[in-house]
Amino acid sequence: MKRGVPLKSRNVKRRDPALASLQREKVIERDGFRCVAQLVSRGVRCPVTHPRDLQCAHLIRRHLCGDAIYDPNVAVTLCRLHHDILDRRAPIALWDSIVIPSEAIDRAEACVRAAEAKREADGRAVVHLKGKAI
Ligand SMILES: [Zn+2]
Repeated sequence: MKRGVPLKSRNVKRRDPALASLQREKVIERDGFRCVAQLVSRGVRCPVTHPRDLQCAHLIRRHLCGDAIYDPNVAVTLCRLHHDILDRRAPIALWDSIVIPSEAIDRAEACVRAAEAKREADGRAVVHLKGKAI
């Protein structure tokens, strides 16, 4: 029996590696080379700073970002664990253990809405983002 494409390469075709890499660099630099998650239990920012553990995490699902998908404003720096929590890959018991700064969420939403407005102004089709980002 033939098996499907492995999950980890599912997005390979529609994700531009060069643009994604550039976005990651800009996001991590902007966030001061540190995970931005606030730890609810201790009321402090996550201490993870090792570059190997830092990831560029979209605050709005990539397929909903439209033209802003590679814009640094739609993403934040998160460590591996906190990225897994954001994307609901981590165990459910951990989901409420972090808070993403609201200004980052607002920035991501404003960025996508600005990209939508630009498409509209250009007379191009737009599928509007519904409700809050996450
Ligand atoms: Zn973290």
